[in-house]
Amino acid sequence: MILNQVFDAINIGIVILDREMKVKKWNRWMEINSGINADKILDSSVYDFFPDLENPKFIRSCKSVFSFGNFCFFSQKLHKHLFQFKSSGYLNADFEFMQQNCAMGPLRNEENEIQYLFIYVQDVTEVAVYERKLIEMNMKDGLTGIYNRRYLESRLKEEFSRHKRYSGNFSVIMFDLDHFKDVNDEHGHQCGDFILKSVCARISSIIRNIDIFARYGGEEFCCLLPETSKDGAIYVAERFREAIEEQDNHFDDLNIKVTISLGVANLKDNISSPEMLLKMADDALYRAKNEGRNRVECGK
Ligand code: GH3
Ligand code: MG
Ligand code: MG
Repeated sequence: MILNQVFDAINIGIVILDREMKVKKWNRWMEINSGINADKILDSSVYDFFPDLENPKFIRSCKSVFSFGNFCFFSQKLHKHLFQFKSSGYLNADFEFMQQNCAMGPLRNEENEIQYLFIYVQDVTEVAVYERKLIEMNMKDGLTGIYNRRYLESRLKEEFSRHKRYSGNFSVIMFDLDHFKDVNDEHGHQCGDFILKSVCARISSIIRNIDIFARYGGEEFCCLLPETSKDGAIYVAERFREAIEEQDNHFDDLNIKVTISLGVANLKDNISSPEMLLKMADDALYRAKNEGRNRVECGK
């Protein structure tokens, strides 16, 4: 068939099945990505080669194509893939399997009867990778890799209303590096960046999975602690303080020690808005600075 040349040249998978789910067409793209040659799979049931397809959703969709001539779309967002193919290429390493947008529809004969069903398979792994990266960039800080302020503020709102609704315990820690300007002035901005990354890595290793740690501004950070009492948060803040005080930061043969000042606030302190909670932690941080730095203060 002359048209087969087109089927085999295009950059999408084409599969044609009959009413018994036997494969009638398996184009070159499907051969390459599945590693299964057409002569091997033709006239076999597609389920013999892809047993995962024999699931209620897929079977129902095929029935609706054969019975009513419907078209069905299997979006990557919902289904990830129809045919499980290993993903390839260094860019696609995020995904073990090729991400696919697929669709199926009827093929009618001269009598207008639905005789076959076609499926097309489109590789959208690259798009999914970029989408994931964009989402990540939107919520993460480029230098330190922790969450950014935008993400923090949206999560703060959510956690605040959740804890208010269920009268839960919720605390916030704000902290800021002490005399950080001096580090930059004495050792250079690159060294300052290195210290920021190092501090963030240390704090990230201490917090729990449910805590949300973010860069609030230049060298000011915030940590949301769900289900945590004021005493619990003071204890955590003290651990942060000690960990940073003890940490060695080796840069260019130097060991640069830094300290942080911290402010703690808790939802139970008559707080009526997320902004007020942050303000209270920030005021406490300001007091910690005034009281001599490298210390924890809590909101009053
Ligand atoms: P304090 O103990 O009162 O907090 O003193 P400080 O010197 O840390 O405070 P100040 O706010 O005066 O200085 C903050 C410094 O943080 C100034 C700024 O250059 C530095 N900084 C902010 N963001 C970055 C960054 O991304 N990289 C580097 N290297 N430095 C930064
Ligand atoms: Mg500072
Ligand atoms: Mg500051």
